Amino acid sequence: MGTSKENSIESRKKDLQNMVEEKLQELPVVQYAWLDEEEIPFSGRVREICQSECPRYGTSWSCPPGVGTVEECRDRCAGFPGAFVFTTIAEVMDAADMEETLATRGAHEEVTKEIREIFREAGCRTLALSADSCAICDKCAYPDAPCRHLERMLPCIESYGIIVPELAQKAGIEFMNGANIVTWFGVILFTK
Ligand code: SF4
Repeated sequence: MGTSKENSIESRKKDLQNMVEEKLQELPVVQYAWLDEEEIPFSGRVREICQSECPRYGTSWSCPPGVGTVEECRDRCAGFPGAFVFTTIAEVMDAADMEETLATRGAHEEVTKEIREIFREAGCRTLALSADSCAICDKCAYPDAPCRHLERMLPCIESYGIIVPELAQKAGIEFMNGANIVTWFGVILFTK
């Protein structure tokens, strides 16, 4: 049995979860989980993959190295003790067709923003991470000028060095949902 202070924190946490989960019913979220921030797996190796395989590397404030080092990203996340992890899915004709796959990202981004708003309305400070690189501006201001829409911009989960397959496993969320189904991940870090 915890102290009355611990019980009160636990009860406030439960209230927040109930409120968020009720509002989630209106959104196309497939799976979700509540984690502690310290359960999020980080690795510099993810950034090496960004650098060697992603054409967006070094072209956006939402991607490395614009987001900062993995240590800086990790420190930023550490200011938010709670993590809400979720997925949305989209069906495509051919999941190997990057253009078709990326065209489904906007809908996921909108859901991510709506969930972030739910947390904000509940009085939480948030740090939201989404899938892939920011596409708000036709041409990103990186590196010549600061981000034009810092409040709206959602950094890519992998850009922070987060190992998404391991995160999915910890969260008990499917990493893939079948052939020609795109699974998009989102993370809302939050604190009251
Ligand atoms: S909002 Fe614009 S400037 Fe900021 S990361 Fe996105 S594309 Fe770049």
